[in-house]
Parts: sequence; C-alpha cells; structure tokens
Amino acid sequence: MVKDHTIIWKECLNIVRKSIDNQPYKTWFEPIKPVKLENEVLTIQVPNKFFYEWLEEHYVSLLKKAIRQEIGHNGRLEYQIMVDNHKKIGVGNSLPKIINKEEIVSTSIPNPFVIPGIKKVRIDAHLNPNYTFDQFVQGECNRFPVSAGVAIAKKPGGTAFNPLIVYGDVGLGKTHLIQAIGNKILSDHAEKQVLYVTTEKFTNQVIQAIKSNSVNDFMNFYQMIDILIIDDIQFLANRPKTQEIFFNIFNQLHQAGKQIILSSDRPPKDLQDVEARLISRFKWGLVADLRTPDFETRIKILNKKLENENLVLSDEIKEYICTHIKNNIREIEGVVISLVAQSSLNRRSIDIKLVKEVIRQFVSHVDQEISVENIKILVAKHFDISVDKLGAKTRLREVVMARQLSMYLAKNYTNNSLKVIGDSFGGRDHSTVIHSLKTIQDLMDTDTLFKDKVNQIVKKVKTNLVSV
Ligand code: ADP
Ligand code: MG
Repeated sequence: MVKDHTIIWKECLNIVRKSIDNQPYKTWFEPIKPVKLENEVLTIQVPNKFFYEWLEEHYVSLLKKAIRQEIGHNGRLEYQIMVDNHKKIGVGNSLPKIINKEEIVSTSIPNPFVIPGIKKVRIDAHLNPNYTFDQFVQGECNRFPVSAGVAIAKKPGGTAFNPLIVYGDVGLGKTHLIQAIGNKILSDHAEKQVLYVTTEKFTNQVIQAIKSNSVNDFMNFYQMIDILIIDDIQFLANRPKTQEIFFNIFNQLHQAGKQIILSSDRPPKDLQDVEARLISRFKWGLVADLRTPDFETRIKILNKKLENENLVLSDEIKEYICTHIKNNIREIEGVVISLVAQSSLNRRSIDIKLVKEVIRQFVSHVDQEISVENIKILVAKHFDISVDKLGAKTRLREVVMARQLSMYLAKNYTNNSLKVIGDSFGGRDHSTVIHSLKTIQDLMDTDTLFKDKVNQIVKKVKTNLVSV
C-alpha cells in the first residue's frame, strides 16, 4: 500500500515526539499540516516564516532523520508558509534546497496560528513555573505593584494598568513578580497566549529578523500574543532599531486591547537613550515600584525560602541574616542555598559562626561596622568642607545639605538611634534628624542627578570600610 502524506507525517511525528519534550512538541509540531507527498518530497504547511525558521534552526536534524526513515534516503521536505492574506507561499528547505514557488489560495484562516482541524496551541510562554504569587511574599514594599498585578491577572488587557511597568533595584523581585502575573494568567485563562521575553533576547530576535529579512513575520508572531511580558527594558537604551520595532508591536498590541507588562531598573522618565515617544507610551498605564523590604518582610521572605528548602534556623540566626542583608532578596536566597549546601555536603551544623562566614561571601562589608564618624569624613570630603562644619551652627546651603545627607546615611547605614545621630551633629534633636531624612528622601525621589550622587557616596561609604 502506498502511504499518503497524512500517514507519512503522522509517522514522522511519532519519531519527533520520542525525541523532544511535550511542550515544544505541542508548540512547534502540532500546528503543522501535511499538504502533499510527491516524488519523495513531503510538503508541510507552517503558520509563518518565523515558525519555519525556528524549525530550521532547532529541529532540522530531527526532521531530516524522520523524513529519511519514513520516505527513504532521497526523501525531502518542503515548507509552505501561510501568510496573513490567507495565501500560502512556498519556501524550500535545506535538504537540499528547492524553492517551491507555487501560490495556493487557502481556505479562510483568520489567524495564521490556528490551523483548521487542530486545536489552537499555546506557544511556550517561557515562564519559570516557580515564580508564582504564592511564592511572592507581600509587604508594604510591594503592595502596590502586587495588587496591580493581581488585577491584571484577573482581567488581562481589561484594566487601566496597560502597560504595567514594574521598576526597582536589582534583586527586589521584578522578574519574579512579572512572571507571577504571567503564570496566573496561564492557569486562569486557557485561551490566552502569554509570552515572557527579556529585552536582551528580544533585541537578538530583532537582529536575526533583520538579517534574514523577516521583520514582518517577526512582527506577526508578536501580534498574536495576548500578554506580552518584557523584562529589563533599560537595555533598550541605544538600540534605535529595536526600539522602533518594539514601538510598533506595542502600539498594535495596545490598540487591540492586549496586555503589556514591562520591568525596568529605573522609572521610565529616567531611561536613557530611549525615544521620547516610547517613554510617553510607558506612562499610559501604571508605573509601580518595588522597594526594599523592611525587616519583618525580609524575615517572612527568609521563612518562605527556608520552607522551600526544608531548613530550620533559630530566630537568632534568622534575625542575624535579615539585619545584615537589607537590599537584595537574591542575596537572602543565596545565603539559604549556601547554608543548605554547607550543612548537607560538609555535614556542618548551622550555627551563627557558619552563618557569618556565608554572609561574608554575599555582603563584603558585613563585619565592618559603619560609623557615623566615617560617614561624616566621607561626606565632608565630597562637599569639600571640614568635618567640624557638619556639627556647627551654620545655615550655609552647602553645609546644611552635607549635614542632612550625613544624617540620612547614618540612619540608613548604621544602627544608631535618631537621638544618637542628632547628638553626633552638634546636639540636634531627633525631629531635626527626621526632617533631614525626609528632605534627602524627597530630593532623591525627584532629582536623579542627586540620587546618583548619593549612590556614589554610598558606594564610597561601603568600599572605604572594606579597605579600613
Ligand atoms: P530582579 O528581577 O528585581 O532583579 P528577581 O525577581 O530576580 O529580582 O528576584 C531575586 C530573587 O528574590 C528571586 O529568586 C525571587 O524569587 C526572590 N524574591 C524577590 N522578591 C521576593 C518576594 N517578595 N518574595 C519571595 N521571593 C522574592
Ligand atoms: Mg530581573
């Protein structure tokens, strides 16, 4: 009996299925439709060029193997690409290359991703399944972006939070949070196409698409996404072509009521070398920041990570970890993982000595007490004034600023009380210290140059201590 294209393709699929995971199989092979078998050439139909290139890039040897096995040594494969205007065009493939120029008018297929007779498949969302809301500890520091995220997950594209931009320093949970939104949508909205991509990867895809002359297919692919999540958009800086393509995709998705979720290490207004028209789009929706967690929240996060690792620590040790790691949750996680490794591999019991050793790897200045005196010296040097002036009664603008900044740093980087800090600046009372903290915080929130300057000083405060 002569086998026809459907049977041959079915057998090829059996071979493919044995070699790859279920998810990529569903994504890349289920939507393929066998078209015909003529002279040992099997023609299959793929939804778009992007799809074809993906297959060629990732599965060409597997396909070769299957075709050879099923058709014989002279077996070849050809692709037909479905294009938007419901036409199919042919494209040759690499075994050996034959260009199939025929154009066939296909039956009505409104969405190039949905092939009649085959259930709409979900593309791989590229989400880490562990990044869920359940695993994301909530506190004052993240209440706002989390509630926006929860609202979006209920009604993607249907809230005012479009786009949602989550920003914050490294290690504060941006990636976790934006992926949690994606994971929640995956589980609650079966029909939605979710895609997570880093800006780095997106940029590479753009470069590839330009090189291979397939920008249109690339854009078509992105247009069928319902929830597009792009991480670390600060890396769009200085990439005008990527920005342009992203701008177009953004507009099309937004107009179609699709949800866009972005993360950045700074607020949109501070993104450098990103076109104004993009930045203005970013402000259409909601911009929400992730702040550093307070002590209680850090303890809760630590507990969550310990629970995941089945590790029990004393309260004293937990408090020690959370007083020494303040600004980066990834570091808390790193400590937990190191402790697990130390205790299981080296069979060491986890005592405060071990914890101190481990923390030292993560926080270089941990055992160096930062003193108010040290801060005063550095700040005075920075402002080019004498240290005495910081405690003096002068109201000179420059001196006042230096004094307020020193108090701010003293509060944030030492364990001294407001009273002790006030005392070290010429006996000022604690309300003066509070006022200074607020002034500096306000300035940092509104003036990026100032914030950068403070960060420079903070770095100095820290590094200086390491070398002391
Ligand atoms: P960012 O993208 O902002 O650099 P990540 O999302 O990669 O930060 O977070 C760093 C690590 O800290 C991740 O492993 C994440 O699970 C964890 N993390 C961050 N915030 C929280 C939180 N609120 N609760 C639990 N884990 C968190
Ligand atoms: Mg991240």
